[in-house]
Formats: sequence, C-alpha cells, structure tokens
Amino acid sequence: MIQYALVTKQDELSKKIAQEIKDGLKEIANYNQEKPDLVISVGGDGTMLTSVHQYLNQDVGYIGVHTGTLGFYTDYLKDEIDELIMAIKNNQYKINHRNLLEVSVYRHGKKDTYLALNEMRIDYGFVTQVINVYIDDELLEVFRGNGLCVSTPSGSTAYNKSIGGAVIYPGTPLMQLTEVAPIQHNAYRSLGASMILDANRVIKLESNHFKCVSMGIDNLHFDFSDVEKIEIRIATKTVNFIEYRSMSFIQRIRRAFICE
Ligand code: NAD
Repeated sequence: MIQYALVTKQDELSKKIAQEIKDGLKEIANYNQEKPDLVISVGGDGTMLTSVHQYLNQDVGYIGVHTGTLGFYTDYLKDEIDELIMAIKNNQYKINHRNLLEVSVYRHGKKDTYLALNEMRIDYGFVTQVINVYIDDELLEVFRGNGLCVSTPSGSTAYNKSIGGAVIYPGTPLMQLTEVAPIQHNAYRSLGASMILDANRVIKLESNHFKCVSMGIDNLHFDFSDVEKIEIRIATKTVNFIEYRSMSFIQRIRRAFICE
C-alpha cells in the first residue's frame, strides 16, 4: 500500500480539501506522516516549498493540489480531487527530477549547508550591498546594489523573473545569477545581466558587509552574523515531482503568466 503524507496550508478550504483527500484514499493508501512515499501538498506554491523542505532528507515524491487560483508547482485544482484519487489508485506516473541549489555559508570557522528549490537571495534595500562575486575563484565583479539572487530552473519563474532574469526550461542542471537593483554609473558598474552557469561552476560571494547577512532560501529567511563567504553550486540531490498527468512547461507558463 502507498504510504502518503499531507502538508496542508492552515486555511479552512485547504483543511477541507485535505480531509476529502484522506477520505478518498482510505481504501488504497496508508496515511503516514513520518515515512511517506508520496507527499501531497494542499495549498499553493508556498505550501509546496514547505513540503519540500519538510521532507528534504527523505526519498519521497511530491504532488500539489492548489486551493487558490493557479500555482506553478501544483498540478490539481480543488475541484479535481476525484481525478487525483483515481490517478493515485492507477499508480501510473512520470517522475520529474528538479534540481536544487546547495548553499554553503561559512562563518565562525564552520560551514552550514542549505538546499534551495527556487532560489537563494540576498536582498536588502536600505544599505548598499557591496559584494565581491567570484566564479570558480575568479573575480567576476564587485557588485553594488540591493542584492543578488541565484535561482534554479524551477525558481527561474519565481523571484528571478520579477527582477528581470530569464525563464529557464527545466530539465538541465543550470543556475542563474541575477542582480537586484544594481548601481550602474561611471564609478561603479557590474555585469547588468543575468549569468547562467552549469553544474561544474561555483559562485562565491564575499563582502566586508557580511557582518550581518539577511538571506532568503525559498520561503525561509535567515539572519547570519560574521559570514566569511557564501558558496553556491548545483546540488547532487534532486527532488522528485510526480506527474500523474502530463503538463508541458509551456502549458504551465501559459497557464500562470499569459492566459487570462
Ligand atoms: P508565497 O508563497 O506567497 O509566494 C509568492 C508568489 O511566488 C506566489 O504567487 C507563488 O505562486 C509564486 N511562486 C513561488 N514559487 C514559484 C515558482 N517556482 N514559479 C512561479 N511562481 C512561483 O511567498 P513566500 O513564501 O514569501 O516565498 C516563496 C517564494 O515566493 C520564493 O521562493 C520567491 O521566489 C517567491 N517570491 C517572489 C516575489 C516576487 O516575485 N517579487 C517576492 C517574494 C517571494
């Protein structure tokens, strides 16, 4: 029997949909919050990010039900629960492997590592951030501005897109470095464009301003003190999204951004 868990946004509608799913799966799957094979996220993209971070250390598959409008990580809508139950019952699916970023923060003589499905971002608009950006230990630029975002192909349609980064067709292990409000004049200048890097590259960030670093990793926020450097690379670990019915990336983009 399939072992499944639910991660539910704490609003009334999502809780009601989660109960519907539980009732529907009673005969065919076993509810197992600790050791699931399948994690069903009920809410929106933020709930899916929470689900992924909750089960990051386990080998699970993810499927999303959207209880609001339309999400990027969610394949089913709130009125398609019967279809989802049937799909789980039929157990026919494709696995979509999504790349993660490995973000290493060096401070106080040790290294802490975080994984990101969408992106890592340093974004602080009140004091100019001055950050030395290295690619494989070679200085690319001294960035001055609000901050920097490094995103995965999955995250390219999220914050990265809002700050002018490119949308990357998923499936290839790539990461994208995008500037947030760079200062560009005759004294200070940075690349001023997104840079897309492959899995052999390492982005290193160093700064005299890293006494206090406010960092976003997906929907999580961290405040670090006395950071020596931050390294970002594509992680060897991936997360598995379960596709019971196929929806192309272009369809997903049209649904989320283009069609009314
Ligand atoms: P949230 O969960 O409310 O998400 C904010 C918006 O980002 C939602 O509309 C969500 O559907 C969308 N989103 C999330 N992942 C996406 C993806 N991969 N592709 C397309 N859209 C996506 O906010 P939160 O919990 O603070 O942060 C979660 C994520 O939201 C972050 O990883 C970041 O990428 C994104 N975000 C975007 C902006 C922006 O576009 N200006 C601002 C803050 C956060």
